[in-house]
Amino acid sequence: MTMTELSFLSKEEIQFRDEARSFVQRNLTPHAEDIEQGKLEAWDILRKFGKAGYLGSRYPVEFGGTGRGLMYEVLATEEICAVHAGLDMARVASCILFAHPVYEFGSEAQKKKYLTPVARGEKIGALGITEPNVGSDVAATETRAEKQGDSYVINGEKRFITNGPVADFLLCYTVTDPKVKAKQGMTAFIVETKSKGFEVVEEYDLLGMHGAHVGRLAFKDLVVPEENILGDVNGGFGVVMAGLDAERTILAAEMNGVARAAMEEAIHYSNYRVQFRRKIREFEGISFKIADMATKLEAARLLTFKAARIIDANQPATKDAAIAKLFACETAIESASQALQVLGGIGYTKQKPVERYLRDARLMTIGGGTAEILRYLIQREVFKEYDL
Ligand SMILES: Cc1cc2nc3c(=O)[nH]c(=O)nc-3n(C[C@H](O)[C@H](O)[C@H](O)COP(=O)(O)OP(=O)(O)OC[C@H]3O[C@@H](n4cnc5c(N)ncnc54)[C@H](O)[C@@H]3O)c2cc1C
Repeated sequence: MTMTELSFLSKEEIQFRDEARSFVQRNLTPHAEDIEQGKLEAWDILRKFGKAGYLGSRYPVEFGGTGRGLMYEVLATEEICAVHAGLDMARVASCILFAHPVYEFGSEAQKKKYLTPVARGEKIGALGITEPNVGSDVAATETRAEKQGDSYVINGEKRFITNGPVADFLLCYTVTDPKVKAKQGMTAFIVETKSKGFEVVEEYDLLGMHGAHVGRLAFKDLVVPEENILGDVNGGFGVVMAGLDAERTILAAEMNGVARAAMEEAIHYSNYRVQFRRKIREFEGISFKIADMATKLEAARLLTFKAARIIDANQPATKDAAIAKLFACETAIESASQALQVLGGIGYTKQKPVERYLRDARLMTIGGGTAEILRYLIQREVFKEYDL
């Protein structure tokens, strides 16, 4: 434990991070390649993480979590993602994207039934916002839920849904009042995927993030009881927005894990590879790349910690979480690309994991808020600060 670490993290946080690191090394590192190649299901490993208490750091003990806060979630996320980002994407879709809104808006009964098994890794959750005609513009949601007696009937489609093909529960955003703007007429439902009318239309073949199942889903006259509404009827837009800061902070932590793994590969390789009778780290063209990777990772991590601390203090973090995600995701792409350059030809092969880091990182200026949308949000917050 160094003085620098102690100035940003408590002794307990450092101890937790170190325990998480060694848990990941024992339980995930030996299986990372099998998950990557589809020989092993991510959820077979993640269930062990649930039993060990690594899936619900933010949620109270009574709902299957450990009640430690988002900062702890950030620390565990970096450790897991440094080893396998695809597995972590499956974990985050369930334990953050699905579970977090249930924790924030769920009734006691909903938390017991849906949050607890997800935080323990016994059930899998997914978040359904995106649709064929709905991407960055969430307010354009088309999936409809119509009231019929004590239930609602859902019709529509969602696409790019992480865990969609394997989930037990889907948090599904729908239009319940088409006469008003979607912001005032959207409702969030917890859908049980075993319900009649739930269909997995296709599973996408992705560039990276292997191990996560991402699918297109359809709902045909799917009946959901009224008690499965999360938050208020027509209050769904507020539910989406309320979860975004914590989600973005976790996605930033994920990419810090990838940036770290890429940098470490570059460090070890450049200290070993000899050309012109010198270790390649002795060439400034190589060693300065390591310097840039270390500088940006440090900055990205501090931005992520800052956003987590603000959220743990229950303060608004729109700008900070957006900045952390934007910077961490762009850093991970750049660092993975530079690490591949340091490794030369072998970096472009599947004998080294750096090509995987680059493929995995590439998603993250798209998923969970594109870089363009985040820049829009950040400038909007900045202008507000100047009353403009
Ligand atoms: C592997 C993967 C997993 C995913 N997992 C989930 C999930 O679990 N649940 C879920 O609901 N969604 C999920 N998504 C969807 C993801 O959140 C969306 O892809 C993302 O929000 C962007 O939407 P889009 O792809 O429709 O792009 P679009 O919104 O169509 O954007 C296309 C381009 O236009 C730009 N653009 C759009 N509007 C503006 C603007 N106002 N100003 C400037 N530029 C703009 C975008 O930045 C982007 O570059 C996932 C996506 C992928 C690829």
